[in-house]
Amino acid sequence: MANKEKVKEIFSRIKSEGRSYVLEHEAKEALSLYGINTTREAICKTSDEAVKAGEKIGFPVVLKVVSPDVVHKTDSGGVKVGIKSKEELEKAFKEIIENQKKFNPKADIRGISVQEMAKGEEIIIGAVKDPQFGPMVMFGIGGIFVEIFKDVSYRLIPIEKIDAEEMISEIKGYPLLCGARGKEAVNLESIKATLQNVSKFLIDFDEIKEMDLNPIFVNKEKATVADARIFI
Ligand code: ADP
Ligand code: MG
Repeated sequence: MANKEKVKEIFSRIKSEGRSYVLEHEAKEALSLYGINTTREAICKTSDEAVKAGEKIGFPVVLKVVSPDVVHKTDSGGVKVGIKSKEELEKAFKEIIENQKKFNPKADIRGISVQEMAKGEEIIIGAVKDPQFGPMVMFGIGGIFVEIFKDVSYRLIPIEKIDAEEMISEIKGYPLLCGARGKEAVNLESIKATLQNVSKFLIDFDEIKEMDLNPIFVNKEKATVADARIFI
């Protein structure tokens, strides 16, 4: 089956459940079918299963709540990063479940995602729909650059390589990606490829209302999507 068809299936399954919020792992599955690199991960129902997944993926790992009722996972105490051992993982698993009970006892918890801990600079790629011009892609560097300095660039789709290059180089934080302040330069090609693949994804799926890949970690080797929030 063509990858577009596979993504269609994922989205129709979500719609048939009456949902518009695409869960992180569903969004990552769809994105990876469009050539976008995402964290290795497993959705686990029990602590024992999560330990096995953690050992297979390799510590350190990240644990996150998987629930259609939790859109902002950190706000509900649903994210634990830097888990280095079986013991830490068991504790984090328990804490996430307890936090959800406190935060929203009625939340439908589908499991806990155990994922590889990505490394590098945090960047953001987002998409919003302009009522007149259609989907626009946003690019920025994570943290204060986006939140405080609003240091972002926008382009309408389709995004060609030259557009991706401009989007990356026109933000003020660009030197940070090129090895400023003793940091290692990141793989800019992987960011360009991700922007172009996001553009292809948006062209094929008009039903995407909003998309937020935040953060994506980029280092000298590659870009890896660590969190993906999509609404259809
Ligand atoms: P939220 O739903 O709150 O946006 P995220 O999945 O973005 O949850 O996780 C919160 C933060 O935890 C991220 O901004 C990032 O800094 C860190 N994080 C999440 N997943 C990973 C990962 N796989 N590797 C490394 N850091 C991660
Ligand atoms: Mg996030």
